[in-house]
Amino acid sequence: MDIDTTPELVSNVYSKIKENVVKYRNVTGRPLTLTEKILSGHLYEIPDKTLTGGKDYVFLKPDRVALQDVTGQMVMLQFMQAGLKQSALPTTVHCDHLIRAEVQGDVDMKVSLDENSEVFKFLQSAAAKHGCGFWKPGAGIIHQVVLENYAFPGGLMIGTDSHTPNAGGLGMIAVGVGGLDAAETMAGLPWELLYPKKIGVKLTGELNGWTAPKDIILKVAEELTVSGGTNSIVEYFGPGTKSISCTGKATITNMGAEIGATCSIFPYDERMETYLKYTNREKIAELANQSKELLVADPEVELNPEIFFDRVIEINLSTLEPHIVGPHTPDLARTISELGEDVKSNDYVDPISVALIGSCTNSSYEDMSRVASIAQQAKEKGIQSKVPLLITPGSEQIRGTIERDGQMDSLKEIGATVLANACGPCIGQWNRPELQNEEKNTIVTTFNRNFPGRNDGHRSTLNFIGSPEMIIALALGGRLSFNPLKDELTASDGTKFKLDPPKPAPEVPENGFMIPEGIFIAPPEKSNDVEVIIDPNSKRLQLLEPFSKWDGKDFVDLPILVKAKGKCTTDHISPAGAWLSLRGHLDNLSDNMLLGAVNAFNDEVGKGKNILNNQLETFSNIARQYKEKQMRWVIIGDNNYGEGSSREHAAMSPRYLGCAAVITKSLARIHETNLKKQGILALTFSNPDDYEKILEDDKISLIELNELEPHKQVKCIISHRDESKDEILLNHSYNQSQIGWFKAGSALNVLRNR
Ligand code: SF4
Repeated sequence: MDIDTTPELVSNVYSKIKENVVKYRNVTGRPLTLTEKILSGHLYEIPDKTLTGGKDYVFLKPDRVALQDVTGQMVMLQFMQAGLKQSALPTTVHCDHLIRAEVQGDVDMKVSLDENSEVFKFLQSAAAKHGCGFWKPGAGIIHQVVLENYAFPGGLMIGTDSHTPNAGGLGMIAVGVGGLDAAETMAGLPWELLYPKKIGVKLTGELNGWTAPKDIILKVAEELTVSGGTNSIVEYFGPGTKSISCTGKATITNMGAEIGATCSIFPYDERMETYLKYTNREKIAELANQSKELLVADPEVELNPEIFFDRVIEINLSTLEPHIVGPHTPDLARTISELGEDVKSNDYVDPISVALIGSCTNSSYEDMSRVASIAQQAKEKGIQSKVPLLITPGSEQIRGTIERDGQMDSLKEIGATVLANACGPCIGQWNRPELQNEEKNTIVTTFNRNFPGRNDGHRSTLNFIGSPEMIIALALGGRLSFNPLKDELTASDGTKFKLDPPKPAPEVPENGFMIPEGIFIAPPEKSNDVEVIIDPNSKRLQLLEPFSKWDGKDFVDLPILVKAKGKCTTDHISPAGAWLSLRGHLDNLSDNMLLGAVNAFNDEVGKGKNILNNQLETFSNIARQYKEKQMRWVIIGDNNYGEGSSREHAAMSPRYLGCAAVITKSLARIHETNLKKQGILALTFSNPDDYEKILEDDKISLIELNELEPHKQVKCIISHRDESKDEILLNHSYNQSQIGWFKAGSALNVLRNR
């Protein structure tokens, strides 16, 4: 199979969208949004009624699958366990998350290749065996490489990384999913999705001065909060969209993951055409131009958006100010002019310890050119960055191009260190020996996520996120309260000066991108002889054993392992950092389970009471002892439990150690699906106040499970220590086939039995 997005594939997709749009328009009897056009164009079957967002499930046929090196290990292991042979869809594997960020690019890459060679060899051999393309370590971060090579307007892609929606910048519906979703789709099965609700964001005016695409998504995150986009696709429209480059649009759709959105999308325009042409996809640009009406919403949508979207937000780009969000959550936003006051009133650490620019979110040619123009101003005034400045290029294509065109020199001349083209500090592969005592400190980044402990493993680090323009200015100012719009810097000759806003920068290089060689391996034509390499004594890779099927009995008097309080993201449930190296070995990895969760019973992080000995122990330790005694247990969660990444390990580890059910006030979308797929009951309180009724020594019974049905609540009895009981009702979103996953023990068991 051709791994590329070929013109033939794109042409077939457009024919199908054209055919289905006519049919679905007839069904709805109204014009369609862009989201509706692309989704209907990928449906297995056009329904006979208008689909309701957040309620109906649909079966879709994606055009591509993308896997990264950490989650991709489990995809391959599950694909193998199900006895599958070749991927039915163009699929690529990208080695990016396992690369360290400690010294600088070359040095870190060499160390990372050595320490991860076992995993990279496994992924390379599994990719070859199952017909997938393999991007070597150093090629770049999955989303940047996908944008440069595979994304296309009107396409549908799934990826085992929550920032897969980055490709929405090129007009693609691209959704982050759990590994089993990917394995099933690679097996040729339809991809099942809860049909999304629709949020419209109307952009008027034009970006100018210091304001950047990043500020748009930071503003949207402020408006919608981290859960406001749950089960929704965010569709941008309006004249302002045209003032944003294709890569700027990708920054916005990338970070749509931070509001819990299924994905975000922009309509096709000339900026996308330019990007396609400069990344050697002229033929695809031509096809997109010929099918333009399919790749934008029907004109009536923009005229009366309230009729077509569940919610509409309007942002005037001409008056939008630069924003900074954080710490610890991406929806805690304020403008740069309000930040100084906020630093004082919240006692944030004002001196910045490190500034980081790049990652999959903000490392485009345009981003790097704009930061380089500010670095140039600093150089002319004879000053350097006041704090360590780390740059992460998103891909080798970007790195080589900015090296050729001078942006990298401009940054190095003010003291920047260039890291490897990989996730590095964004995913906790960052070693900071200077932080020995969990001292509170401030970092500023252009990344997308800022949960405690994510970047450097230290929960005391406060990560504030902003645009590349703002972050380099803060690095020059050295203080979080520095406002480049009004504050002055001191030049080497003692004179005072203000930074000028960054120069408008080209979105693509005038002389084209440098095209790197030797970083991609296509699958062989015949893969019978390829051996997938797993050492049976490996500490990092382990073949999977199927989870046992449900025994048909109710869950009675289960202990509560944890009652999570406040934010409990997938980073809290299955932390990254040093644990990333174990993502292919379920047993060893599971020692990290819930290490970041705050226990509501005692405010301890990562620890709870073991009812077998009344001792305070780590959750994994307790769960292993319960498992040995064949005791199942439950997790109680707060709001938006499981927000964050697509990592299915946050569901697999609890399942592996005996979790029967997760009961929360609300669940994040990908995590909810992951729980269901791994055979854990994913339930929410019908009355969120019932969360308060649950006490440390309570036992939970889930009864009449034989009658589990779509839309029917589950009965739960809470048995208290004083022998009193509360009966409450729990909601779920299972459909009939998902109930089958629960009964079979996991969705993988269903796939294997097919
Ligand atoms: Fe990598 Fe960070 Fe992007 Fe995730 S968000 S793909 S960890 S750079």
